[in-house]
Amino acid sequence: MKFNSTLESIQSYEAGKPIELVVREYGIKKEDIVKLASNENPFGCSPKVKEAVRCIIDNMALYPDDSMVKLKNALSDKYTVNPNELIIGAGSDQVIEFAIHAKAHQGSKVLMNSVTFAMYEIYAKQVGAKIIRTASREHDMDEFYALYLEHKPSIIFLCTPNNPTGDAIDAEEMLAFIEKIDDNTLIIVDGAYMEYARFKDPKKAVEPRDLIASFENVLFLGTFSKAYGLGGMRVGYGIACPPIIQALYKVRPPFNITTLSLEAASVALEDEAFVQECIRHNFKEMERYKAFADSKKIAIIDSYTNFVTLSLPETKNSSKIAQELLKKGMIIRDLSSYGLNAIRVTIGTSVQNDRFFELTESLL
Ligand SMILES: *Cc1c(COP(=O)(O)O)cnc(C)c1O
Repeated sequence: MKFNSTLESIQSYEAGKPIELVVREYGIKKEDIVKLASNENPFGCSPKVKEAVRCIIDNMALYPDDSMVKLKNALSDKYTVNPNELIIGAGSDQVIEFAIHAKAHQGSKVLMNSVTFAMYEIYAKQVGAKIIRTASREHDMDEFYALYLEHKPSIIFLCTPNNPTGDAIDAEEMLAFIEKIDDNTLIIVDGAYMEYARFKDPKKAVEPRDLIASFENVLFLGTFSKAYGLGGMRVGYGIACPPIIQALYKVRPPFNITTLSLEAASVALEDEAFVQECIRHNFKEMERYKAFADSKKIAIIDSYTNFVTLSLPETKNSSKIAQELLKKGMIIRDLSSYGLNAIRVTIGTSVQNDRFFELTESLL
């Protein structure tokens, strides 16, 4: 059967291997597997969230509240924005999909960093858009501007902190860049890890309220999958001026967020102390990764997230190292598909990190 020709150049997204698959493929016991591959919060979510979800477990027959009033109100309070400046997606992934489908089409150009979140390219190619990438590994705003002038893209992605490298753009530099871009170019600021950057360095903190107060062409993305420990619930959001939100609503399917997910995300916002404690722990453990990398003379990228990227020496192949670790029940991310001889490791609990050091020690 023939499918749309736009699909021909798309490589399906490869998610971090699920624990269930490793149990089956390698015959390792579930309790012996450590997954540090998808930047989930190793402590999960607040106990208050679990309690709240248990309490509404009898409400599954009815369709969810499609106005999402409880979650929108909670997000408006958190960010001091209006509910009509918000859209909720099944993960911020879905908001990326909405934005690309609303703005780009066959022949449009989409500008992004050389190494960045893989889904931007996949959604852009679905509509036949052309991908333009910078050459430098870290977001270089001058290079972005030069490529903007040359190609006049319809969408620009800025992922800060960036996945899979962990570096972040200085907020001031980003604002100065956005200032120079015309109103008809949609700038998507993906802040999936902004909670971590905000904690580590105020210079990297981008506040969605400030963005949308100054610019009508910016869409900020956030998610509950990382710091809030709700990856399994699939909830993310976009914040932008009402005309952008209204356009995204036109491509949104109804009831895109389940009742349980809406409740979980709303209640997660009530326990900010839990999230901040997880983030504090994250950066404390990150120091151990730095020490480990130093002792092995491996380059580590300064990270503003909940993962670290280790650039391996030429003599060590990242795919092989990832494969060896997998056989021992340690799931991490090989970055060879991004053109890097590097691995990305989510910072886990101290016990999980101990396990990573112990297993990797023997391989390096
Ligand atoms: C994880 C991630 C997302 C999306 O996560 P969802 O689970 O779909 O909310 C978006 N952008 C980046 C950079 C990410 O790392």
